[in-house]
Amino acid sequence: MTLLLLDGVTASYGASQALFGVDLEVAPGEVVALMGRNGMGKTTTVRAICGMMPSGGVLRFDGQSLTGLPSHRIASLGLGLVPEGRRCFASLTVRENLTAAARPGPWDLSGIGALFPRLAERPHQIAASLSGGEQQMLAIGRALMTNPRLLILDEATEGLAPLIRAEIWAAIARLKRDTGLAILVIDKSLAELRAVSDRGVILERGRSVWSGAMADLGPDVSERLIGV
Ligand code: ATP
Repeated sequence: MTLLLLDGVTASYGASQALFGVDLEVAPGEVVALMGRNGMGKTTTVRAICGMMPSGGVLRFDGQSLTGLPSHRIASLGLGLVPEGRRCFASLTVRENLTAAARPGPWDLSGIGALFPRLAERPHQIAASLSGGEQQMLAIGRALMTNPRLLILDEATEGLAPLIRAEIWAAIARLKRDTGLAILVIDKSLAELRAVSDRGVILERGRSVWSGAMADLGPDVSERLIGV
């Protein structure tokens, strides 16, 4: 069974085409890494999935077509996005950020606090005054509070100190192990992606050019297509 299905997805910024045919599947409980060098179309693929830009081809979530649906409808189907750049409501507190997005389901404030104790320690702190790593945890917590069936993490560890990065990877691993949440993850660290992902898809110039089990991603392919 497939939760998220992309088949031949295309997308353009005005006259400039960025995606030429992206194929991607995520099954329930599966962690899939979306990889590729800078500018190959990873974030654009996320934007197309989330209805943030018009797209062509087949885009389905749990069998339902996403084509033409507005972003809020797609989110309400169970797609939780942690966008590039960890956007939180800067002037709201940690707790307000978490409750603003909440939808019914197993995730609540105490669950987020257990996953990220740093957030539990500062419920009344204004988001803008959090460290970069804490803001990223808050962005993940916010997405989880929507009780998604698929979590999309776009560069969740970018620009963070090694210790904080390790905390976030540990949280992702815990999500996979304890909740069986389906996750689509984009990150520059191939070693961390290997540790947590079941399968991977590599994009090159807006096309998926490799997909398979992470265990089958050899150094020749990763060097040629990802640069590491
Ligand atoms: P990165 O790892 O650098 O974030 P990426 O794989 O996520 O890269 P995208 O950001 O999806 O790549 O970019 C894909 C292509 O679309 C690139 O050629 C990029 O220049 C172009 N592009 C991205 N955003 C825009 C935009 N707002 N307007 C026009 N072109 C854009």
